[in-house]
Amino acid sequence: MRTARPLHLLARVCAALTVASALAIFAGGCSPHDSDNITIGVKFDQPGLSVKRPDGSLGGFDVEVARYIAARLGYPPDRITWIEAPSAQREMLLRNGQVDFVVATYSITDSRRQKVDFAGPYLLTGQSLLVRADNTEIDGTASLHRNKKLCSVSGSTPAQRIKDRYPGVQLQRYDTYSACVEALRNGAIDAVTTDDVILAGYAAQNPGIFKLVGDRFSQELYGIGVHKGNEGLRQRINEALEEMKRDGSWQAAFQDNFGPAGFPMPEPPQISR
Ligand code: GLU
Repeated sequence: MRTARPLHLLARVCAALTVASALAIFAGGCSPHDSDNITIGVKFDQPGLSVKRPDGSLGGFDVEVARYIAARLGYPPDRITWIEAPSAQREMLLRNGQVDFVVATYSITDSRRQKVDFAGPYLLTGQSLLVRADNTEIDGTASLHRNKKLCSVSGSTPAQRIKDRYPGVQLQRYDTYSACVEALRNGAIDAVTTDDVILAGYAAQNPGIFKLVGDRFSQELYGIGVHKGNEGLRQRINEALEEMKRDGSWQAAFQDNFGPAGFPMPEPPQISR
């Protein structure tokens, strides 16, 4: 019984510390070093960028960027917890403190900046169109009128742009791009629209089935989402990205993941400090 009291006290101190650190995470003031693992939000279904393979492993450019940053922050691969971050859930995952950062084809925009902060950018891309390989009707944005059925994803910048600029298009919003690609394959829709690096990944995965058409019609700068106000983490991620460019890992990751889709290597974008 005598020993019960100190143990009880210890348990209470630990509980208080747990609550305190949980509050610190929600306030955005907690460094990821405070826990044993780091939790990163990524896509699970975007070949070339971020894909979860049947054996459960993850690969792609975004995943390599995320792993590099985690290593610089002191987290080897076995101490990373991956969480799926579909387009419409990224801000929510960050704001709820469910992830430390998000590397998920996440364009930096003013409206998102009201809710989260961004490190980077680490990649420049742009919106384009994916159609079935035998399609001769759609060859760019000019051919999008005439009631074409276009698929994009809820909570994404491409879906919003189509809604704002191409009101004649029948826009269908799905939860994921892989769902759009299946609808394109079975003829339920005429085209998928999002960033060309994402579309090129699906085209490369399905040779002879799909093709990209037209030019890029937006500029998307991919950033790494962090909790709003966590300036310390944002700066450390920026330092890791600078290092990744300097030591050639960025270039190697680009080549390994986008080389098969035929993308020439661009200059990595300038990081905004
Ligand atoms: N980069 C765009 C966005 O952040 C499209 C890709 C995506 O939905 O992840 O919304």
